[in-house]
Amino acid sequence: MTDKTRLKTELLRDILKLRRFQDSWKICEYLNDSEAWDLFGKAAINDMDIELATRIYRHVQNSGFVNALEKLKLIEERNLLAGHLANSSNRYDLAQTLFLSSSQPLEALEMRQNLLQWSEALTLAKRLAPNQIPIISREYAVQLEFTGDYTSALDNYEKGLIGDEDLSTTSLSEDDLKSHNELCKAGISRNAIRCGNTRRGIEFVSQLSHNKVLVEECATILDSMKLYSDAALLYEKSGNYERAANLYMKVKNFNKVSDLFEKVDNKEIQSQYAKAKEMEGKYREAVKAYIKAEEWLDVVRLYLDYLNNPGEAVKIVRESKSIEGAKMIAKFFQKLNDMSSAIEFLVMSKCHDEAYRLAQSTNQMDIYANILLDYADNHELSQDFLSIAIHYEQERDALRAGKFYCIAGQNKKGVKFLLQAAALSNEDQNQALHLAIESAADSKDEQIIRMIIDFLIGETDGVPKDFKYLFRLYMSLKYYREAAKTALIIAREEQNAGNYRNAHDLLFGMCQELKRQKITVPSEMVNSLMLIHSYTLIKLWIRVGDHMRSAKLLIRVANNLSRFPEHIVPILTSAVIECQRAGLKRESLEFATTLMKGEYRDQIDLKFKKKIETLVRKSGGAHLRTGDTSDADLIHTLCPYCDNEVIDTELSCHKCRNSIPFCIATGLHIIKEDLTVCPNCHFPAILSHILRLISNEPICPMCNTTIDLTQMAQLEDFQSVLDSN
Ligand SMILES: [Zn+2]
Ligand SMILES: [Zn+2]
Repeated sequence: MTDKTRLKTELLRDILKLRRFQDSWKICEYLNDSEAWDLFGKAAINDMDIELATRIYRHVQNSGFVNALEKLKLIEERNLLAGHLANSSNRYDLAQTLFLSSSQPLEALEMRQNLLQWSEALTLAKRLAPNQIPIISREYAVQLEFTGDYTSALDNYEKGLIGDEDLSTTSLSEDDLKSHNELCKAGISRNAIRCGNTRRGIEFVSQLSHNKVLVEECATILDSMKLYSDAALLYEKSGNYERAANLYMKVKNFNKVSDLFEKVDNKEIQSQYAKAKEMEGKYREAVKAYIKAEEWLDVVRLYLDYLNNPGEAVKIVRESKSIEGAKMIAKFFQKLNDMSSAIEFLVMSKCHDEAYRLAQSTNQMDIYANILLDYADNHELSQDFLSIAIHYEQERDALRAGKFYCIAGQNKKGVKFLLQAAALSNEDQNQALHLAIESAADSKDEQIIRMIIDFLIGETDGVPKDFKYLFRLYMSLKYYREAAKTALIIAREEQNAGNYRNAHDLLFGMCQELKRQKITVPSEMVNSLMLIHSYTLIKLWIRVGDHMRSAKLLIRVANNLSRFPEHIVPILTSAVIECQRAGLKRESLEFATTLMKGEYRDQIDLKFKKKIETLVRKSGGAHLRTGDTSDADLIHTLCPYCDNEVIDTELSCHKCRNSIPFCIATGLHIIKEDLTVCPNCHFPAILSHILRLISNEPICPMCNTTIDLTQMAQLEDFQSVLDSN
């Protein structure tokens, strides 16, 4: 401000005092300053020159003020006008005096209310409008509560309450009255508590328990005043169960905590509760709480140390996969001297070295090894398996050393030990060779395969081993041709020993496997299977009562007696009987004569001996005559390849030189017009015959599985059967 301006401003004040308003206007214009104009405006209002004041405020574009002044223009009463003008220039006490001496003293009350000056408003209301006292008191109370004057706030809330006796004087509607009184009661609750009258506060809040916000507010106040029991109660009522449980815990009201427990989803509280219960020695409740808090280690500890329930502890550890818990259980079992369980839990807690040492010192390496084997992912454990292998090697247990060297990935070393074990002990041979073959199949290592083959064929110790091992080796290496050759040798051995079922199953299985691998089945294998299968069909046809069928099969088998060395006499005896029954007299007599030769005669079953002797004696050598025809030779059916006539029991066509597949029901060669296949094994059969054979019991004579008879139909596509031969 320049000196000149200051001088002019002082001049303005002086001129205003002299009410020289025209000069004042000029000075204000000169100063062009809003404060100067405001000074001028106030002077005009003081002078109650509303006209001038309006002009001034319009000039400085204070439209709010202009509007207010426009309204006052209508007021004619001097004091009332003066009151409003004083109010608008912030001279409230003067305004109040003027209003009170005017015809509208309530303006004073309204002014104080607008100014939120509740104390003054209250004083005025007592004189001017007693029915407003409650509302003003409530407003005043809110203000006082806000500023922290709780005692006065409480006092005013109390005054605000409108009781039944005051109903006649109130101007409030029913709804407004209700919400007014509720606000007062809420205020009383809060401030009574703050002022130390908690009983009264809680009593009021109980009346308003539907107001969860208020209940929680009061709970918070009590909480901050460290009145935890009451706070907890109110938190519980407000639905804040966590805080309630927390405070109940603080005041050690555990009954309440356990009541609330189901509703609380806070691990920390659950854990605290559990600890408190444990301190009290209530272990069962503590365990429940630890479970909720998912503190598995404590659960396990309590089950083991206090509740004597290792079963539950074990269950928890298995489910929770708690490593520390497993360690705890391992220690527990060690104390009980139950070393195998201890080892198991040491493994579970990933303490493999400890488990190994314990297994070694307590001589329980097998248990340790088996537990490790149960682990799904034992690739990571190869070092552990190696330790086990070394242990067994030191113990001179070749079988186990070999097994675990293989599992640890050292196949060559492992197989060496396994073959050693197989050579040393007949008892271990099967398992050792099985493991060695498995290892060869896994590793596909040429040297390992050679080592095993040399051992099996007796190259290493001069003792050839059972062919089934060689067969198994070839099969697991998928060397099907070699497997087939071996299978033939084994089947021959089985057949020689009279184990026809084994031989049949082996050859059948091998045929199926070769077909699956799309490898042609060698004719020697087909023949062997056909012959052994014919043998198995005999008793089925006897059972059906078709003696012609059984006789023809017996003729075939009897003509290959060298393949059934264990049953020569019974086969010949049956052949004699069945051929008799079928009316094939020449064949019957031929077999009877063979039986009467010295070497077999004494072995004939006594039941039949006499009859066969009589048969041979009566014939008097008649059978030796040439040109004697037999009914058995007479039946011809067509070759499915070339339609040439071929004797039904023959399996190759002398014209087209094809070998013809045999029927699994009769052993005869198949015929195009009456053809089917087993829906399970796909071996062919003459439809009319097989239906007769299995009418009582629908089981395939080849693969031994039950057949759905509805699937047995005349085969249209006979070519597929011929092609697959
Ligand atoms: Zn032919
Ligand atoms: Zn079948």
